[in-house]
Amino acid sequence: QTLFNEFAQLGREMPKLKARIAFNENPHGISKKAKEALIQAAEVSNRYAMFEGQELKQLIAAKEGVKPENVMLSAGSSELLTAMAVYYTGSAAKSSGGTILTSQFTYDDFLGCAKKFGAKIEAVPLTKEYRYDLAAMKAKVTADTRLVYICNPNNPTGTVVPVADLVAFCKEVSPKVPVFIDEAYIDFLKPEERPALPKLVAEGYNLFLTRTFSKIHGFAGLRLGYAIAPEKFLPELQNYSRGEWNPSVTTLKAGIASYQDEEWQNFCRTENDKARELLYKGLKEKGYEYVPSYANFVLFPIRMKTKQFEKEMFGNGILTSTREYNAQPYCRVSVGTVDEMGMFMDVFKKIA
Ligand code: PLP
Repeated sequence: QTLFNEFAQLGREMPKLKARIAFNENPHGISKKAKEALIQAAEVSNRYAMFEGQELKQLIAAKEGVKPENVMLSAGSSELLTAMAVYYTGSAAKSSGGTILTSQFTYDDFLGCAKKFGAKIEAVPLTKEYRYDLAAMKAKVTADTRLVYICNPNNPTGTVVPVADLVAFCKEVSPKVPVFIDEAYIDFLKPEERPALPKLVAEGYNLFLTRTFSKIHGFAGLRLGYAIAPEKFLPELQNYSRGEWNPSVTTLKAGIASYQDEEWQNFCRTENDKARELLYKGLKEKGYEYVPSYANFVLFPIRMKTKQFEKEMFGNGILTSTREYNAQPYCRVSVGTVDEMGMFMDVFKKIA
């Protein structure tokens, strides 16, 4: 947005975008089956959703081994992140504030919102492999810790914590303090590589998971997400968001089709792997290191200031994003199509 404003203020002609690889969107669009469902649903788009939410919750519950009462839908998962911040650190909590335990260099939407309610953020440094340091985090749990926030795979590093470590952490910590795991990018792992955290929810652990249709399903614009959490907690959370009633009937009907379209999800995962490999190859050829990623974006250190890098890429039609960590500038590029990664590398080779 800043870049767009800057170009507009300077009166410069907006460069024609060749690749929009900044927001971790799905470059392949939505599945054909979801599109057909969406078009059909246009016929009922004058209506509020009625039974569609329950239908989708039943599908999710059956696949994840939980009850539909453990699932809450939302218009994208951001809404759930905000509701969680309000519930645990805002006026909904017994007293506002408290401490949220997390890692440095992670997704800061939930944390930013918690901070606005006066919460203190205890952010533990990453390991040298750019992973959450669960052992160090465990040692930091105190009576003031209100909640633990873990993003896995982590944004912006793309790293995951080992499954066994995460499961052990949840089992040990969640009886003392609620553990919130943001699994926005979990679908980029093959099903057998994913930690079976919904099973722990079913077993009664105080664990809260959020997922989104914005990534592998390509619903960033359609807006659909969901939480898997203890049954008695979800009606409480409903008080702080439109939650369940927010996704439109059209989005829900498309979501039901997309959720069952595993062929499409496999296609997007395979294409993502292919394009990511191509990006790795290009970076290696240029002598750049990168953080091996389990998601649809890759983080790598750059040799230029962040804003300059973004501007030069944008000026050449590539919209990407940057971050700074420990005074080192990084590019976090989303994985686009194979063609888009080629275009990114052409410009990168020219400017870097
Ligand atoms: N969580 C993480 C880690 C994300 O990266 C994002 C978006 O990029 C979200 C949550 C929110 O996404 P949405 O509101 O589209 O579900």
